[in-house]
Amino acid sequence: MGKTILVAGAGHGGLAAAADLARKGYDVTLLEQKAEDALGYDWTDIFAPDALIAAGVPYPSKSLYTYKDNMTFFPPAKSVALTQRVPDNEREIKMERSDIYAHLIAHAKRCGVKFRFETEVTAPLLLGSRVCGVYAGEEKLYADLVIDACGLDSPLRTALPDVCGVEREVGENNVAYVYRAFYARTGDYTPKHNYEVYLLHGGRKEVAWVATEPDFADVLIVRFEPFGTEEADKVVAELRATDPHIGDTVVRGGQFAKIPVRQPLSMLVADGYAAIGDSAFMTVPLIGSGIANALKASHILSETVVADKACAFTAETLWRYQTGYYKLLGTGYAAMTCLKNACLTMEPAEVDFLFERGILTEKEVTITANTTNLQSMIKLSMKEFVERAKKLCTDKILLTKIVRIASQIASATALCAMQPKVWAPQSVRKWAASYNAFYARQQK
Ligand SMILES: Cc1cc2nc3c(=O)[nH]c(=O)nc-3n(C[C@H](O)[C@H](O)[C@H](O)COP(=O)(O)OP(=O)(O)OC[C@H]3O[C@@H](n4cnc5c(N)ncnc54)[C@H](O)[C@@H]3O)c2cc1C
Repeated sequence: MGKTILVAGAGHGGLAAAADLARKGYDVTLLEQKAEDALGYDWTDIFAPDALIAAGVPYPSKSLYTYKDNMTFFPPAKSVALTQRVPDNEREIKMERSDIYAHLIAHAKRCGVKFRFETEVTAPLLLGSRVCGVYAGEEKLYADLVIDACGLDSPLRTALPDVCGVEREVGENNVAYVYRAFYARTGDYTPKHNYEVYLLHGGRKEVAWVATEPDFADVLIVRFEPFGTEEADKVVAELRATDPHIGDTVVRGGQFAKIPVRQPLSMLVADGYAAIGDSAFMTVPLIGSGIANALKASHILSETVVADKACAFTAETLWRYQTGYYKLLGTGYAAMTCLKNACLTMEPAEVDFLFERGILTEKEVTITANTTNLQSMIKLSMKEFVERAKKLCTDKILLTKIVRIASQIASATALCAMQPKVWAPQSVRKWAASYNAFYARQQK
């Protein structure tokens, strides 16, 4: 076996893994469908900067980032405002997406990655059930390992043969459909909170944010089914009732996009194949952030590749990547997915109740760079726990729902703990089938 690696898609994790592997002497080529100057979206992103260090990528220049503002959350009735209190040392950075890409690509080039932009990967190239390269249109490109960083609708993951056991479908309610645009500010109104987040906005299965900057209002709308410009315009008009500074002119963005918000893929690897980033559903299911996780996963993947001295790159030798990812992050997000699924079944009045009765407080909405599981989000003392439980007992239906969520979270954690530590095809398949079935039941 050789050391030729193809990375499909310039996803954040793919770029970081490509750089690390090229630096370690592998022959790495990255294929990206877009032109180098057309990657990503015309907006800023927020992520934990430590993830760059974890991935072996240098920190960007200070002039390229600022720190994220604390978010203020509102229930559907907008009756209460809960503002995050993120400690200084746990703040995430905010950076232009184009600058993040430029930073990662420059680093990858310095490490020796070869780039082919404007090259669309169309399908996996298979030898039996082993991925031995990719098709780029008619062109066949061979490799010892293919890293799939093509994102949610990857043409690789969705075309692997059944025998690989890698899920193709994302699943109902597992895709966040997003509209985001920066509107020029109008009038002299300044909101009390810089970064407003409206939950179950308009009483719908929708989240909207208005992040106010000196010159523009950054508006984001999230739903769990596709919607178009007409609907987005209606929501923006509704937001203007509370945020009259949102003007009519879109100065940046104005695009629709999709984010996976679900449990991590049950099988991240197959013979000759490893998925990373959105292809592998690595986002934080409650909020859809995926950059830091993809970067952290890149390090686990490159260590796994290096550990495979014979360069066999089979599902067996790559399995360590899967167990490493679940240990560091995946188990936490698998449990968090139960909470996200439950949130989608909540009635507006129930969310109002949680906010208004103080069952949810600023503590729980303080999601920081270190929030990688529910334990890091919900840090209640025994006294606080008892107080909140007492309040919750006044609404029996909600109490029943919360008890059910707690039991699902416990089951998800136990299920992840049962993931085979060592590759054994039959037990791995059996485990993946139970994991998939567990989440399929939550969708019913
Ligand atoms: C509106 C919005 C806001 C977001 N904000 C944040 C945020 O603030 N913080 C955060 O952490 N995350 C954020 N995310 C999520 C984040 O974008 C992703 O989780 C993260 O980019 C990891 O995804 P990825 O790089 O794996 O995939 P993608 O970003 O989808 O990148 C995939 C790459 O592969 C390329 N590609 C796709 N198909 C092919 C093909 N067939 N051939 C060749 N190349 C191909 C694409 O052109 C693209 O460059 C946001 C997402 C959206 C939509």
